[in-house]
Amino acid sequence: MIPAPFEYHAPKSLEEALRLLDRHGDEAKLLAGGHSLLPMMKLRLAAPRFVIDLGRLKGLDYIREEQGMIAIGAMTTHAEIENSSLLRAKCPLLSETAAAIGDVQVRNRGTLGGSLAHADPAADYPASILALEAQMTMNSSMGVRAVDAAEFFLDMLTTQLRPGEILTEIRVPALGKGTGAAYCKLSQPASGYAVVGVAARVTLAAGKLAQIAVGVTGVGPKAYRAVNVEDALRGKKASEKLLAEAARHAARGVEALADLHASAGYRSEMAAVFTRRALERAVARAAGTKA
Ligand SMILES: Cc1cc2nc3c(=O)[nH]c(=O)nc-3n(C[C@H](O)[C@H](O)[C@H](O)COP(=O)(O)OP(=O)(O)OC[C@H]3O[C@@H](n4cnc5c(N)ncnc54)[C@H](O)[C@@H]3O)c2cc1C
Repeated sequence: MIPAPFEYHAPKSLEEALRLLDRHGDEAKLLAGGHSLLPMMKLRLAAPRFVIDLGRLKGLDYIREEQGMIAIGAMTTHAEIENSSLLRAKCPLLSETAAAIGDVQVRNRGTLGGSLAHADPAADYPASILALEAQMTMNSSMGVRAVDAAEFFLDMLTTQLRPGEILTEIRVPALGKGTGAAYCKLSQPASGYAVVGVAARVTLAAGKLAQIAVGVTGVGPKAYRAVNVEDALRGKKASEKLLAEAARHAARGVEALADLHASAGYRSEMAAVFTRRALERAVARAAGTKA
């Protein structure tokens, strides 16, 4: 299908993009990689009168280390995240997640900021962003604000982003020695989207699970922290049995989605299976017994 007519703008600076957003309000949509927005426009599920393309902005695509954190510009593509030597060395969970997205074309065009702002309930990054306890920075003509990942995702396709705001940067921690992380997903075979995707991050101290964070995507209307799993593990000595028992809580209290690809019951069962796998892999990586 062909999208409804729209006026195209290609601002060269963040300030210009913010001015355009202020001027056109609800009638405007930001365009990043276009891999979620353009299909929606073609189906006429979105019909913005003004499209503001962030693709010509300088300085929103970078990956750099700053004071123990890794700062990533919102326009950084999935492929750049997948292949970044800095992320692979210091925060491999994000590279592993990016590598699991769609196919090469999608990864070459889609951006981290676009995926997070879109907040598709089956998108991959939200699980890892939650497990990493990332921080999101948003700019508007009123200034800059930052929110924690745990507060960012509000509901299906709904985030903390307010009208007039642009997500500009995502900060993730550099993972130290003794910390391991893993992303495991059950892919929807046609698109690659997550039927269930689980990111686990664990830190071992004296053989015990000192810190643990588990993010789950695909199961409910929004990605969430599996706090019941975390509580069942914290402070305990990791064993296969313990991880499997804790993983059973992965979908507890969540109203699982049902669609053409999976029933609610199947999604909940798979949440437990993929949580166990992600935990096992993260623990093995933290212990240095698995790459
Ligand atoms: C065939 C196919 C397969 C896919 N498979 C997967 C998959 O397996 N896993 C997965 O996670 N995703 C998948 N995707 C989605 C893909 O990752 C998209 O790239 C992503 O969801 C959106 O990023 P984008 O940069 O293309 O954003 P766009 O489509 O350009 O924008 C998406 C939305 O975010 C808004 N937006 C964009 N950037 C910003 C910003 N900086 N600040 C505020 N708002 C912003 C836009 O206005 C729009 O509403 C797939 C897409 C396709 C077409």
